[in-house]
Amino acid sequence: MKKTAIILAGGEGHRAGGDVPKQFRELLGKPMYLYSMEAFLAADPETELILVCHPGMMDLLEVQTAEYPGELSYTLVCGGRSRRESVEHALMEIGSGNAERLVAVHDSARPLIDAATILRGWETARHSGSAVPVVPVTDSLRHKMPDGGSRAVDRSQFMAVQTPQIFRADILAEAYRQPDSPAFTDDASMVEAAGHSVTLYEGNPRNIKVTNPCDFAVAEALLKLR
Ligand code: C5P
Repeated sequence: MKKTAIILAGGEGHRAGGDVPKQFRELLGKPMYLYSMEAFLAADPETELILVCHPGMMDLLEVQTAEYPGELSYTLVCGGRSRRESVEHALMEIGSGNAERLVAVHDSARPLIDAATILRGWETARHSGSAVPVVPVTDSLRHKMPDGGSRAVDRSQFMAVQTPQIFRADILAEAYRQPDSPAFTDDASMVEAAGHSVTLYEGNPRNIKVTNPCDFAVAEALLKLR
């Protein structure tokens, strides 16, 4: 089956203490989004890459990728005002989705994604049409109550969801034809709302989402361990 990976770098985020959106900042001297692109190519060099870039960062991206020492083949797409719009721009490149193609949607804010996790995802999606990576929740959780209080919940009943989330292209295209809803926090929630079941696969606890300023140091430390 043909494989397409959408690498999302369209967001503004809160710039996490830097002067460019976090995904354009360097980790160990390399822009963050490049790690995800390399991981998908390491998993399967035949993967077609679509890089979705923040509209104000196209010039910086051109400079950064021009300095890349190796071969990098990808389609560049301009990001939208929301994550959903950014994915939609990438889906327009793919055209009407068919059952012979798998599409992975990956947040470039997760630069520690590794080839083994990606391969588990492709394999799961090949069998079931969907693949959503999860890891156990390690913090204790509390449920906020309407009266302003909170109560403890059994964390073993919950899982943390990561990316890449992978779907058959026709299923993802159908999910994105639905009107937007606040309940849609990721691609899996949209696919589910469109009436499809979602298959989970084992994510990787190292596949952290770089969000807070301290996450940059954590990500660099983890990259050094590889
Ligand atoms: O801001 P946050 O980290 O939750 O965004 C998740 C991912 O969605 C990031 O990789 C971000 O670049 C992407 N995104 C996007 N276009 C937007 C908003 C977010 O590609 N308009």
